[in-house]
Amino acid sequence: MKRVYNFSAGPAVLPEPVLLEAQQEMLNYHDSGMSVMEMSHRSKTYEAIIKEAEMDLRTLLHIPDNYKVLFLQGGGTQQFAMVPMNLMKSKTADYIITGTWSKKAYSEAKMYGTPVSVASSADKNFAYVPDCSQLKLSENADYLYMCENETINGTFMHKLPNAQGKVLVSDSSSCFLSYPMDVTKFGLIFAGAQKNVGPAGVTIVIIREDLITDDVFPGTPTILRYKIHSENDSMYNTPPCYGIYICGKVFKWLLKNGGLEAMKKVNDQKAELLYGMLDNSKLFHGIVAKADRSIMNVTFTAGSEEMDAKFVSEAKAAGYDNLKGHRSVGGLRASIYNAMPYEGVRSLVEFMKEFETKNR
Ligand SMILES: *Cc1c(COP(=O)(O)O)cnc(C)c1O
Repeated sequence: MKRVYNFSAGPAVLPEPVLLEAQQEMLNYHDSGMSVMEMSHRSKTYEAIIKEAEMDLRTLLHIPDNYKVLFLQGGGTQQFAMVPMNLMKSKTADYIITGTWSKKAYSEAKMYGTPVSVASSADKNFAYVPDCSQLKLSENADYLYMCENETINGTFMHKLPNAQGKVLVSDSSSCFLSYPMDVTKFGLIFAGAQKNVGPAGVTIVIIREDLITDDVFPGTPTILRYKIHSENDSMYNTPPCYGIYICGKVFKWLLKNGGLEAMKKVNDQKAELLYGMLDNSKLFHGIVAKADRSIMNVTFTAGSEEMDAKFVSEAKAAGYDNLKGHRSVGGLRASIYNAMPYEGVRSLVEFMKEFETKNR
């Protein structure tokens, strides 16, 4: 069977050259006589892999020297706890609630103090991003939390909130490396790899050094402290070795293909094509306010639950997989991450036009 166009939100499509290279190196990595899966994370060979992955990521994002890069486990979900446990020293922080993921992060933070919701788009089912230019922030809040791209709802913060001097913390899981983001605007950025950069099991954290301290929530387990991971260069315990190796290959693939400026260009073209189709369709329509649309996760509907289900099943049969919306919100969703080629979106749009003609 041939490979399909995979529109999954995560784990998601990876660049084919990366998969092929991993296949070639599967049994014997660089004459080590073993697979990367089988080697000690303390070996010279593996050390080179993780160091190079970090270097390439630093190059891609122009990460300044006063930021640490950590390769952790536990997903974005673990960061919902690690962020307040490590950073919410005054027991309060401000949260912007734009969808499922920021809502979850806010709930988790309540375990460690009294976070404050300073903006929310819950009133309209998270189908827009609230104005964050003049938020009323809490005086003693340790940070302002945001989710840059809400994977499930399909919104993107095209304009960063005015943090008014507060440390800005961003869950950038599903837009990470989709455009040249300015790391210096943030105190901490985290991203689960399985959306746009690699396999599940790796979580990347970029944290400004002055935020790494011993002053953490009492009882915070060692493994959940940024300081221990930072001091040990992500090797306090066994890191997700194979996942980091694949992420490293994706970083190289990005560098080879023009870096994040080039990625953004193609990503914008893909999104314009698909949203353009939705805006001109008599059957399909987008769900999110135009100004706040995600470039990565396009949420839409064919008008009814039945029509959505019909579309999902006919699309799958035609080789366009994973177009069903998240189980919590329904509808349809096409995730068009870096590794989804323009041709995949063009071809999907053609298929949608045919479907529309047959079903109007
Ligand atoms: C997927 C996702 C998460 C959760 O990631 P896990 O790896 O399942 O913990 C958190 N935030 C965002 C924005 C996501 O897309």
